[in-house]
Parts: sequence; C-alpha cells; structure tokens
Amino acid sequence: MNLTSKVALVTGASRGIGRAIAVELAKQGATVFCTSTKKGGCDATLAAITALGNDVAAHALVCDVSQPESVAALAKDVLASAGKLDFLVNNAGITRDGLFLRMSTDDFDDVINTNLRGAFLVCKAFSRAMAKARFGRIINIGSVVGLSGNAGQANYAASKAGLLGLTKSLAQELAGRSVTANVIAPGFIETDMTAGLSDDVKSEMLKMIPLSRFGQSSDIAQTVAFLCGDAASYITGQTLVVDGGMTM
Ligand code: NAP
Repeated sequence: MNLTSKVALVTGASRGIGRAIAVELAKQGATVFCTSTKKGGCDATLAAITALGNDVAAHALVCDVSQPESVAALAKDVLASAGKLDFLVNNAGITRDGLFLRMSTDDFDDVINTNLRGAFLVCKAFSRAMAKARFGRIINIGSVVGLSGNAGQANYAASKAGLLGLTKSLAQELAGRSVTANVIAPGFIETDMTAGLSDDVKSEMLKMIPLSRFGQSSDIAQTVAFLCGDAASYITGQTLVVDGGMTM
C-alpha cells in the first residue's frame, strides 16, 4: 500500500492503538498529525515514526477533543500546514467504568463528551475540507461494547453505540463527495486501557476469544491502513469488528 502524498490525523496518538495507527500510516508513506492532551505526549510516537527511516513528516499537536475551541485550533493548524486532510482517525477515548446504579452523571458526561461529542467536533471541523476536496476517509474507533453493551460500562457502550449512528449518517451525507466513513470495533486489545483488568477477568475473556489471543494495537492499525487504501474505496457506513471472533 502506498499512502505517499496523503495526510492523516490520528487523535489520541500518544500511546496504545492511536500510536500504532500513526506509525502504520507513516510506514505506508502518509504525513501524520498526532494529538495528545499533553505537550510532549506524542514524543514517543514521533520517535517511532522517525525510527522507520522513511523520511515521512510527522507532527504532534495538543488537542482536547472534548473542547470545541481546542478542536477548532487543531483544524486551523492542520489545514494551514498541510492544506488538506485525507484520513481522519477519531481514536481518542476514555473509560469511567462503574455499575449503572452507582454511575455518576459526571462519569457519564465525561465519557460521552470525549468519545462521542469529541468525534462529532473533529468530524465537523474537517468534513467541509474533505467534501470540498472530493476525497476523504473518516475512521471512527468504536468498540464491540457499542454493539453488545457491557455491564459496568453503560456510559462507554452508549458513547460507542452513538458513534455507529454518527458514522452511518456522515457516510450518507458525504458519499456524494467521495468521502467514506466507517467504524472499526475492536474487541480486547492489550493497551494501558485494559492493563488494569485483573488476571481473573483477563483469563475469562481469553476463553471467549476463538482465536485464543488478545488483540494487539497493530491488528487495529492494519485495519485502519486497509480502510485508507484504494482497496477500501467502495466501503462506507460499515462497522468492521476486529476481535478475534469474540462477538461473532
Ligand atoms: P489508551 O491507551 O488509554 O489511549 C487513549 C488515548 O486517547 C491517549 O492517546 C489519550 O491521550 C487520548 N485521549 C484521552 N482523552 C482525550 C481527550 N479528551 N482529547 C484527546 N485525546 C484524548 O487507549 P487505547 O486502548 O489505545 O484505546 C484507543 C481507542 O480504542 C479508544 O477510543 C478506545 O475506546 C478504543 N478501544 C480500545 C479497546 C481496548 O481493548 N484497548 C477496545 C475497544 C475500543 P493523552 O492521555 O496523551 O492525552
């Protein structure tokens, strides 16, 4: 796959799945803009891209996707610097787990504001430029939990289910401009987000995965790269489940 001359933005690229996506797209030749909420948060990601040795340009920007003014500044910077955006990957996400009867309104709002409203704000900030360019690939990182629900994650499941409706609506509105929009729904991926789960929970989950291994960030990154490539030009409004068969 050759993504040379393409420009990508990956939100939440400081670690985990986001970092792997940024590195994979850079490996395929794309110029990559990486975001974190912290200054210097994407240093390790930029170092990993530099280590590829293929001379692609990578940039780090600070953005809190839950803050409209932060997203507006991000769009201004990316579009002023690159002049366009080909691939938008809404990856930034958080969890605030708890049983529903005890879930605070703040924990519900925080998750919705980052995972769903954040993706809405970033899509809104870039979709006009994509429509004008008559090309774009929007990839929203959902979760299998958005399809099935999950005890202890009502807020997170609602945010990820909301992404499906947002993405399908965008896919319908932007198809006429050759902009596609899809969701990738990962299962259990080994990152900081899942590192805190107990060994008991992990071994129970492993039993539910037909491919008998936890997913790696690279499994998601390669699916993103596929959706960015020419081979995926006829795919829009879809949810690609990448979970080792866990939820089939
Ligand atoms: P992670 O290791 O916790 O990384 C989360 C990323 O999101 C970090 O780069 C973080 O950046 C960024 N972020 C958090 N709040 C943000 C905000 N308000 N604005 C901008 N960026 C923000 O998580 P991960 O496991 O890689 O997950 C990445 C995505 O995959 C998430 O959307 C998650 O829901 C989804 N997912 C993960 C799994 C899994 O098993 N790991 C399964 C299904 C779906 P900073 O902290 O540097 O600011």
